[in-house]
Amino acid sequence: MASPKSKDSSMPEQDLPAGRRDGSNAKPRPRPVRRTSRYSPADVHEIFRRLSVQRPEPKGELEHVNAFTLLVAVVLSAQATDAGVNKATRALFKAADTPQKMLALGEAKVGAHIRTIGLWRNKAKNVIALSEALIRDHGGAVPEDREELVKLPGVGRKTANVVLNMAFGQHTMAVDTHIFRIGNRLGLAPGKTPEQVEQGLLKIIPDEYMRHAHHWLILHGRYVCKARKPDCPACVIADICKAEEKTTSIPAPLVPIVPLDPLDEVQAETKAD
Ligand code: SF4
Repeated sequence: MASPKSKDSSMPEQDLPAGRRDGSNAKPRPRPVRRTSRYSPADVHEIFRRLSVQRPEPKGELEHVNAFTLLVAVVLSAQATDAGVNKATRALFKAADTPQKMLALGEAKVGAHIRTIGLWRNKAKNVIALSEALIRDHGGAVPEDREELVKLPGVGRKTANVVLNMAFGQHTMAVDTHIFRIGNRLGLAPGKTPEQVEQGLLKIIPDEYMRHAHHWLILHGRYVCKARKPDCPACVIADICKAEEKTTSIPAPLVPIVPLDPLDEVQAETKAD
């Protein structure tokens, strides 16, 4: 195969100084990161069809009773396990399930409820501040709008996407550590930032699967396509997957999965990463 021409074609290649073959000393440019999916629309459809058969009605694992408690639970879940958050919020949400009640409870009591969760001091402050902001700016309701949600204390794009998807059924994609890994490892939606992966996934996932796609990918990443060692023999998309790390091309049997009970969930999360 012909090699690309050097800039100075009059100079024979063997006379070029050390460094780049075109004679410049500039460092070779890093290879551009592939930004498009490695999968055809039919492959993507089949991936989500299988994930939907496995978990027909996937539920987020964060317990909540309304949009407000979901928002609080997601804010508390940063750098904490869902099971750990659920343990703390059961009593908290019994005491306060609206911004008004949360404000009345006060920062010290909120802190006492969530003391087992990492960064609890800061999170207690944010829960009170976001309750105040909801009352002041939104009449105590959780806004159905990403721009408004991200103005609330402690709420970033990912949290806003989770709330829009779970509380309001919007077709958003909240990219957490599992989805970011899957997007890149499989080449499903490669990207250097969560937002690039988010945009890539939104482009390729068929509309009919968008409602639950976020949960399917999180659960797949948490329990099967794990960070350190993907469990390829247990994977229902092993024949379609194009990840370099995959260890088998034989897909696992496609059967519905029984949800884990809370204790198994804690153990599985501990083992997952
Ligand atoms: S085959 Fe392996 S690497 Fe590919 S999605 Fe399944 S678990 Fe992940």
